[in-house]
Amino acid sequence: MSRINVMQPWLGEEEIAAVSEVIRSGWVAQGPRVRAFEEAFASHQQAEHGVAVSSCTTALHLALVVAGVGPGDDVVVPSFSFIATTNAVRYVGATPVFADVDGVNGNLTAATVEPALTPRTRAVIAVDQGGMPLDLEPLRALCDPLGVVVVEDAACAAGSTHRGRPVGAGAEIAAWSFHPRKILTTGEGGMLTTSHAEWAGRARRLREHAMDISAADRHGQVLAPAESYVEVGFNYRMTDMQAAVGLVQLQRLDEAVRRRRELAARYGEALATVEGLRTVADPPHGTSNFQSYWVEVGDAYPLDRDGLLARLAAADISARRGIMAAHRQPPYRDLVEPGALPVTEHLTDTTLILPLFHQLAESDQDRVIDVLTRP
Ligand SMILES: *Cc1c(COP(=O)(O)O)cnc(C)c1O
Repeated sequence: MSRINVMQPWLGEEEIAAVSEVIRSGWVAQGPRVRAFEEAFASHQQAEHGVAVSSCTTALHLALVVAGVGPGDDVVVPSFSFIATTNAVRYVGATPVFADVDGVNGNLTAATVEPALTPRTRAVIAVDQGGMPLDLEPLRALCDPLGVVVVEDAACAAGSTHRGRPVGAGAEIAAWSFHPRKILTTGEGGMLTTSHAEWAGRARRLREHAMDISAADRHGQVLAPAESYVEVGFNYRMTDMQAAVGLVQLQRLDEAVRRRRELAARYGEALATVEGLRTVADPPHGTSNFQSYWVEVGDAYPLDRDGLLARLAAADISARRGIMAAHRQPPYRDLVEPGALPVTEHLTDTTLILPLFHQLAESDQDRVIDVLTRP
């Protein structure tokens, strides 16, 4: 019996060949492959502009900067998310205001965001949690008239759809992750997509020390023009080696989503009749890539969440506690009254993430199902 991991990236010989080619070319830093990857990714998600960066965390930081968020502003975020969502707010000196989430799919909704809005709210960061598409339209209908920018944290959501279009297509600005825990990976990496040409242009400069001419363009000339640094920028660049991997991964994405949805449907069917277990499923407004497949362990189940995790571990199956709650971590503990985020706390305490990845054999998935359905 061998260990079943919760996640494994899907990489192959094509990625190895693509990286080798970049190394042989002699240009490994941000260059032509980064540009090609930005264009291909933005086009896949039907977004107008793509700016590749070093991670989703840095994409979120730049998204808030170009949206004009700064000290004195409030930004509404879900506590029910990886902590980078909240940290980005602090990077620009603004104050995170936690909103609760929908109890079924774990995402912010217009109804959960509205009570968190203040006269100082400049932005909302709404997450497609675990790849589950959030319902963007009602949220923008609430926020747009107030001049509140909705930043979509689509870290997990490449390949998910919303109202018949790719996630991100309807966003003013969205941030993506290519960490190996996500469905499309470049090792580390991220992307910012936006419908605003000026925001894209500023983000493109800011990721590269706010230089008015890119290093790649300067190197293209024997006598490089003098550059100027138009504001305080950052080094948030992606490398051409990463982008080359991303271009191959993007070609795999539709097949990766198809296989994950097939495995998710197998879990859904096998677990539908287990009393006390609720499985994650597509919302009415879209389709998930099932980047994370989670179950909620209810009172009717014979074990609690941690008991079930232990039983899986004893069978050499690596599951994970569900999505964290940022407001329980030391930097943010003082921001909310106890009990203010009941749905977040309930989901954080009762959910667990099951193994789901492209290469997962059905026989291995059946081993997981056996443990879950054991009386
Ligand atoms: C993974 C993740 C991030 C961070 O992505 P990195 O690329 O590792 O910086 C941010 N937000 C959410 C919702 C995530 O799942």
